[in-house]
Amino acid sequence: MAKKTVKDLNVAGKRVIVRCDFNVPRKDGKITNDNRIIQALPTIKYLLENNAKVILMSHLGKVKTEEDKAKNNLDVVGARLAELLPGTKVTFCPVTRGPELEKDVADLKDGEILLVQNTRYEKGESKNDEELGKYWASLGDVFVEDAFGSVHRAHASTVGIPSNIAENGLGFLVEKEVDMLGKAVDEPAHPFVAIIGGAKVSDKIGVIENMLAKADKVIVGGGMAYTFLKAMGENVGNSLVEEDKIQLAKDTLEKGKGKIVLPVDNVIADAFSNDANIKVVEGDIPEGWMGLDIGPKSIELFKDTLKGAKTVVWNGPMGVFEMPNFEKGTLAVCEAISELPDAITVIGGGDSAAAAIQLGFQDKFSHISTGGGASLEYMEGKTLPGIAVISEK
Ligand code: ADP
Ligand code: MG
Repeated sequence: MAKKTVKDLNVAGKRVIVRCDFNVPRKDGKITNDNRIIQALPTIKYLLENNAKVILMSHLGKVKTEEDKAKNNLDVVGARLAELLPGTKVTFCPVTRGPELEKDVADLKDGEILLVQNTRYEKGESKNDEELGKYWASLGDVFVEDAFGSVHRAHASTVGIPSNIAENGLGFLVEKEVDMLGKAVDEPAHPFVAIIGGAKVSDKIGVIENMLAKADKVIVGGGMAYTFLKAMGENVGNSLVEEDKIQLAKDTLEKGKGKIVLPVDNVIADAFSNDANIKVVEGDIPEGWMGLDIGPKSIELFKDTLKGAKTVVWNGPMGVFEMPNFEKGTLAVCEAISELPDAITVIGGGDSAAAAIQLGFQDKFSHISTGGGASLEYMEGKTLPGIAVISEK
């Protein structure tokens, strides 16, 4: 069954609370990348055009101390929103509860925006405190979930509010994410190839297991491949290895027989540095050397594995792509995926998305997820509480 979306809601004249993901990166108090604010605009504009009273809420950074509050004041986002929406009145309320907030809400007119202070100013936010969820819900008539980056967290602003309000639905951003991730993970066209990489087996074992159940092939690259190679008895030198995950890797290899595809050669270096000495080896990695990227034969093998795929899910870089000497594997995988004719291609994971964008593939995939942790949990087959709580159509 499909979830209600903003279009299924009656919003004219209503106080509509929208949970956005305005957790933007900043330097010296200035926003360095406003992509998350841009991504929230379709829902906000739709609500403004439909004469809602728009109440926006978001967290920003981590708030533990009073000092953190000053560092993570959401007013910077208010200023940017006002620039992005000329002609719209944007009020920023510097507190998360009390008479000032309640007055700002009461004064809000149709077609205007009220941005509420950082939800994490409240200790009860991350505990999904019942009173807090009810209080925030009392400020609105309708709730819209549009913070994809936060839907894997059962917090007061993501779960407490929609549980305590008359009507709720998904915003356009979350709807798109659920639609694309759902198409790839839950109803994949076959052949379905998953590519899993990145640093650690422990971070990705859930994804590997879910993909082994659903995909036709599971390519494993990146730092975590070395734990698998070691589990197969290969020497991996000083490569990244999780000793306590070797048995798990063995069991996974056994389960995934015929499905798991591992690197057959590696770009190795004598230090974790772009300036290290570099060579390519097949098989054992000598002591004092570490694998930092997949090698050319692995690239060919992975490309071959991808041939004919109709669905590709990719999570985790193939090497230390942040250093130019170890980006080739990730680049080749990006190229191979983006050249597949008529395949649904989806990237999840914060660093994988960053890699694809950094390497110039921003528009070459069907979908690049905006939520690192949330997309990962989706790929693991976990329920995302902020989506589960939303009503069915
Ligand atoms: P995502 O955020 O997409 O889920 P991860 O966080 O799991 O991805 O992994 C990304 C990190 O893995 C990158 O910073 C990358 O440098 C690192 N990485 C990839 N391959 C290796 C390797 N061979 N050795 C050490 N680190 C690696
Ligand atoms: Mg990451």
